[in-house]
Amino acid sequence: MVLNKGFVEITPTASIDVNRHGGRAKCLQRLIRLEMPVPTTVALDFATVHDISQGTLPDIGMMLASFGDAPLLSVRPSSEDPDWGGPSAILNIGMNDATYERLIGTHGEVAATALYLRFIRSYAIHVARLDPDEFEIKAPMDPAAIKRAQAIYEEETDEPFPQDTATQLSNVLRSMARAWEGTTARLLREARGAPADAGLGLVVQAMAIGFGRNMSGSGVIQFVNGQTGERQLRGRYLCQSQGRDALGDPDARAIMYLARDDRGRSIEDELPQVFEDLKRYGDLCRNRLREEMQIEFTLENERLYILDAVRVQRTSRANLHIAVQLAQDAIISENEAVMRVPPRSLTELLHSQVDPDGPRDAFASGIAASPGAATGKVVFSSRAAQASAAQDEPCILVRRETTPEDIRGMHAAEAVLTERGGITSHAAVIARGLGLPCVVGASNMKLDAKKREIVAADGRVIREGDIITIDGSAGEALIGTARMLEPELGEAFQTLLAWADNARDIGVRANADTPADAAKARMFEAEGIGLARTEHMFFDHDRLLAMREMIFADTAEDRRTALERIEPMQRADFRELFKIMSGLPVTIRLFDPPLHEFLPQGREGMRELADALDIPVSDVTRRVEALSEFNPMLGMRGVRLGITVPEIYDMQARAIFEATIEATDEGGAPVVPEIMIPLVSAKREVELVKARVDAVAAAVRIERGVDFTYRLGVMVETPRAALRASEIAQHAAFLSFGTNDLTQMTYGLSRDDAGRFMGRYVQQQVYPEDPFHMLDVEGVGELLQMGAERGRSANPDVTLAICGEHGGNPESIAFCRKAGFDYVSCSPFRVPVARLAAAHLAI
Ligand code: PEP
Ligand code: MG
Repeated sequence: MVLNKGFVEITPTASIDVNRHGGRAKCLQRLIRLEMPVPTTVALDFATVHDISQGTLPDIGMMLASFGDAPLLSVRPSSEDPDWGGPSAILNIGMNDATYERLIGTHGEVAATALYLRFIRSYAIHVARLDPDEFEIKAPMDPAAIKRAQAIYEEETDEPFPQDTATQLSNVLRSMARAWEGTTARLLREARGAPADAGLGLVVQAMAIGFGRNMSGSGVIQFVNGQTGERQLRGRYLCQSQGRDALGDPDARAIMYLARDDRGRSIEDELPQVFEDLKRYGDLCRNRLREEMQIEFTLENERLYILDAVRVQRTSRANLHIAVQLAQDAIISENEAVMRVPPRSLTELLHSQVDPDGPRDAFASGIAASPGAATGKVVFSSRAAQASAAQDEPCILVRRETTPEDIRGMHAAEAVLTERGGITSHAAVIARGLGLPCVVGASNMKLDAKKREIVAADGRVIREGDIITIDGSAGEALIGTARMLEPELGEAFQTLLAWADNARDIGVRANADTPADAAKARMFEAEGIGLARTEHMFFDHDRLLAMREMIFADTAEDRRTALERIEPMQRADFRELFKIMSGLPVTIRLFDPPLHEFLPQGREGMRELADALDIPVSDVTRRVEALSEFNPMLGMRGVRLGITVPEIYDMQARAIFEATIEATDEGGAPVVPEIMIPLVSAKREVELVKARVDAVAAAVRIERGVDFTYRLGVMVETPRAALRASEIAQHAAFLSFGTNDLTQMTYGLSRDDAGRFMGRYVQQQVYPEDPFHMLDVEGVGELLQMGAERGRSANPDVTLAICGEHGGNPESIAFCRKAGFDYVSCSPFRVPVARLAAAHLAI
C-alpha cells in the first residue's frame, strides 16, 4: 500500500526499484516475497531522502502509523550499490521513559535498560553529534546509568533527551540524509565507483528485540566461506544482543553456536526448527536471489525474524568459486558467472599476495609495475642475485634501473625493485614477462650502490642481505617478511576461463620470448605468441659475447662469420618455441634495440670484452663511444638497423625458416612462422626487408629441398607508420600496433624516464592516467583507429593486432575490439585477465 509520495511499505507487490529505493530496500522486498519473517518495513526513496536533507520531511505521523504498536524502530541506509556505503544504522528509535517502563514489563529490566542506554548513546553520537567518550556504556544493567546519560545529553545540548518518537525519527532521518550529502561521504563513495549524484534511500523497520526473556539474541549466518568460496555454514550468534553485535562482541561466553558443536550450546540443538528455517532461507536466497547471502536474524523470545540479507563479503578467489558453483548448479548461466568475475580480480589469483589483513611496514613506494609479492634478501647486482639463487636463497634485486645485462639477475631474483623507470621501463617489461613482482620508480628511497645500502625516506637504512618484501600489486617495498596468500589456479579458474573463451570474439595471444614464457603462455591458454622479442635471446653470456664480436666486426664478411655462431642458437630457440606452441602461430619480431645496448657499460665489462677479443681496452671504449647516440630510442634501432646491417635480419630469417622445417620434421604440428619488422616508418623499409627475407626463404627451400610458408608483418609503432598504413599494409600480412613506442613517439615522451614526473602530471590532471599504463584513446587511440582503417581498406585481409603493454588492459581490449582488431597480445600472466575481459565485452 502506498502511504504517501516518497515512502512506501515494502510488500510483495509494492513498487520498489533499486535505482529509486536502493539495494537494501529491493533485497528486503525479495525476502518478503520469499515469505521470510521480515518485520514491517517502510522504504524512503532517493528524492525523499534528498528533500529531508534540505529540510522537508515526509509525513512522519503517517509513516509511524504503518508500524502499529511496534515499540521500537530501526533506520538503515539503502544506496543503489551496497558497496557505496552509507551512514550507520540507528536502532531502538522509540525508546523513551514510557517505552522503557513498558519493556520492563514485557522484556525485563535488564533488557529494557540495555536498549535505552544504547539508544541514548547512538542518538547522542550520530544525531546530536556529541563526543562518543561521554556516552561510554560502563554499567549496562544499571537503571541509574540512564539518568546519568540523559543528564549529560541535556548538559551538552541544552535540551532534554527527546521523548517523542516522531521527533526522534525525524531527527534520525535528517541526520542520515545530511551525512550522505557531506563531502567526506561523497568522496568516499566516489572512490568506490559511485556516480557524483548517487542517491540514498532509507529503510525504516519495526525492530525484533534481541534482548529479553527466554532465548533472545541476534546473529548472522551464511553458507559459504568468504575466504575460499567453499560451501560451509559460517556465522555467529550472540545471546542478548541486537544488530550486528554478534560480529563485534568479543564476549565469547554469550556466543551460541549455530550448528551442533562439541564446544558448547547450539541453535541446532536447542531450537532445531529455527535452525532448519535458517538453512531453508539460505537455500532460498541462493536459488531465488541467485547469490550467496549473509542473513541477519534476530530471535525474540525464541521467535525468528529476518532483518536483512547482504551479499556475502568475499575475496576474489571466493568470488570466482561462488560464481562457478552457482553456474554448475544451474542457478545462473555460464555467461552470468563469467560476468560476475571482474577481469582484474584474476591477477590476485595468479600471484602470491601480501595478506591485506597482515601487518605491513613500507619503506619505499613507486609504480606497481608487475603484480604479486615476494620476500627475499636484498642484493644490489645481478651477479649477487645469481650467487644467491645458486645457494637457494631467495633474493630481491634492487637496482637504480635495469639494463639488458641484468636479465640473468632478474631470472635469479624473486622480485625486482628499481629507483628509476616507468611502467614500460626495461625492469617493468621483463618482470611482467617473467611474472616477477616488481616496483619501479621508487624515487622516495635513495640507493647507494657503493655502500650497498638503501636509505628510506624516513631515514631507515636497508643493507645488502636484509630481508624485504616487494608488493608489486601495491607498488611498495616492505621491511621484513610479510604474511602471504598463495596463488590459486584450480579447477574453478580453468572452468570459468573456458566459459569466457566460448563467449569472446577477439583473440588473445601472449608476448613470450623464452621457452619458459612460452610454457606459461600455453598454461594460460594463449592462442599463440603475438610478440617474441628476439633481442632477449641474446642476453645469455656466450651469445652476448658473439653479439659483441659481431658489433666489433669491421666488414660484412666478419659480421656474417660472427653471426654464424649465433644462428644455430637462434634456430634452437625458435625450434623450442615452435615445439612448445605446437602449431599455434608464433610471431617473431626481428632484432629491435640499438646495438650499443649490447655493449658493456662499466670498466669491468669493457676489460672483459677486451680480453675476449684480444684488443686493447681503449679500442673497446672508442667503439662504444662511436656507437653511442644522443637519442638511442629514436636512433639506429629496429628496421633501421635491419637496413644498415642487413646481416642480422638475414641470420634471423634463416634461423626461423630452418627451425620451421626442423620443428615440422620432428613430428610437430605444421608451423607457419610470422616474421615481424619493428619500428617501420616508411613503405620502402618493408619492401627492402621483404626482398631479403624472401631471398633467404628461397635459399633455404632450395638447400633443404622442403617447402614452407610464412607471413611477414609490420609493427606499427611510429606515428608515420599509422598514418601511412594503407601503403604499408599492401606489403604486410599483419599489422601489430606497438603501443609502447607509439605512445612514446606520439607524446614525445621517453618511456624510460617519464616515471620521474608522471605522478605529478596525473595528480594535476594533465593526463588522466599514465599513458604508458592506460591507452590514451584520444590521441594514440586515434592513430590506432586510423592505422587500422587505412590498413584494412588497402588490404582487407590484413590481420590487426596490438602487442604493446596495453594489450592486457580491459579498457584497451574494448577499444581494439571496437576498432575491429583480430587479437591482442600481452604478457603471459595477463592472458587470463585479457580472456575474461574480452568475454565481458562480447556477452
Ligand atoms: C612496443 O613498442 O609497443 C612494443 C611492443 O615493442 P617494445 O616494447 O619491445 O619496444
Ligand atoms: Mg617497440
